[in-house]
Amino acid sequence: MSALACEGLTVGYGDGAPVIDALHLDIAEGAVTALLGANGAGKTTLLRALTGLVPLRAGRIGLGGRDLTSMSTEDRMRAGLGLVPEGRSTVVELTVDENLRLGGLWRHRGKARKAAVEEMYGLFPALDRRRRAPGHTLSGGERQMLALARALLAQPRVLLLDEPSLGLAPKATAQLLGVLRATAARTGLTVLLAEQNAASALSVAQRGVVLSLGSVAADRPAADLAADPALRHAYLGF
Ligand code: ATP
Repeated sequence: MSALACEGLTVGYGDGAPVIDALHLDIAEGAVTALLGANGAGKTTLLRALTGLVPLRAGRIGLGGRDLTSMSTEDRMRAGLGLVPEGRSTVVELTVDENLRLGGLWRHRGKARKAAVEEMYGLFPALDRRRRAPGHTLSGGERQMLALARALLAQPRVLLLDEPSLGLAPKATAQLLGVLRATAARTGLTVLLAEQNAASALSVAQRGVVLSLGSVAADRPAADLAADPALRHAYLGF
């Protein structure tokens, strides 16, 4: 079943050529889908269009049967869409704990919020050890974990992640994507993981979608994509 559906999406900036051009895409429920493509292929633009941060020129977006197309970004979030934007959206003036309590603000109250935050510490022991550390003292990997934990606290049905591995060491990337995969498997969360790092993304995804020239060049099981030398050479760079 499809959790997130795009029909004929066309997106561009100003009066420039479309970056996303009449794109059709169905994201499978309860799976991790890797969204791949060269630098500038339009991954960020697609995620921004899904969340309503850039307007559509044409097309429709559906989330579990609901039409999101004309909803505000806030309403899309309430309907169950979550986003971890590129560049680790943590508040650097706040501590880890304060960031997490803010993340759970509108889904949880009182004791439930505290319990939800504690659950995140269970998922991310590295954050547990740094509860009182101010955001600006965190490593890249810790910040990205904090951004992911914050997004999970909002209990999205579909979580969009934009290049979470950017600037992370391979070990930190593996750790982060491992938690993401385990969480998706445990909770049935649907994940769309935009990544420049195709090998890492495909290692945790069940499905892979390759964007090229504004549309879908391939949409296949992740293991198939990773094993296809022509595709790897043409689009994935590994
Ligand atoms: P990256 O991996 O570099 O983030 P990407 O696949 O996410 O690449 P986008 O950032 O979506 O690609 O960019 C796709 C195209 O849209 C690029 O040609 C880029 O120059 C253009 N673009 C992105 N943002 C804007 C903007 N705010 N105004 C004009 N053009 C933009």
